[in-house]
Amino acid sequence: MGKGAYGKSMSQQNRSKPSLVIASGNLGKVREFRKLLMDLPVTILSQPEGLQIEESGKTFVENARLKALAVAKATGQWAMADDSGLSVDALDGAPGVYSARYANTDEERICRLLKDLEPFADRSAHFSSAICVASPEEEILLEVEGKCEGLIIEEPRGINGFGYDPVFEVYGTGLTFAEMEIENKQMFSHRGKAFALLRPELEKLFRA
Ligand code: IMP
Repeated sequence: MGKGAYGKSMSQQNRSKPSLVIASGNLGKVREFRKLLMDLPVTILSQPEGLQIEESGKTFVENARLKALAVAKATGQWAMADDSGLSVDALDGAPGVYSARYANTDEERICRLLKDLEPFADRSAHFSSAICVASPEEEILLEVEGKCEGLIIEEPRGINGFGYDPVFEVYGTGLTFAEMEIENKQMFSHRGKAFALLRPELEKLFRA
């Protein structure tokens, strides 16, 4: 794939405001990242349409690296990727890195999860997020991970968010992610926590 609109080098861009491509085709994630990155001096771009990246890693970090590097290569820009998923204790950590591939749609994924969990009393689970940032020279410069503990409820609740949000109740809140506004979700979420670790490093990279 050609670099097209992404093909400007750092020297051709406004140096004070580099571009950062969010390496994800998941609109829910892109929305969260745009919000998190809002006040950083970067221009946020979506990844090129049609870019297919094989997530062949065995861990969230491995997949985040693959995605960030593939998008940096395809665009010639800074790229930020998150690989995330839900690990359920009673299912030995499944769906884990296969969270997106557990079924075809969010609704079907939730249905399968609730069915697979039916025989178990233990409903504890956690979300993980690994975020990597790759330079335009295709080097991984930043890498962080965040977790959020909770439990899988029996009936979906709430209308916000995406993915497994309606069935994941965050420990200590009594609320599912889908019952939280995006700002509140980010205070508790795996991605919000990973991003809190990343933020000072991004400040150093992009405000320098
Ligand atoms: P990937 O990181 O794009 O491979 O996909 C991760 C998958 O995990 C998503 O498609 C969702 O199904 C699920 N997931 C990741 N983060 C969240 C979240 O914050 N809420 C709900 N589901 C999530």
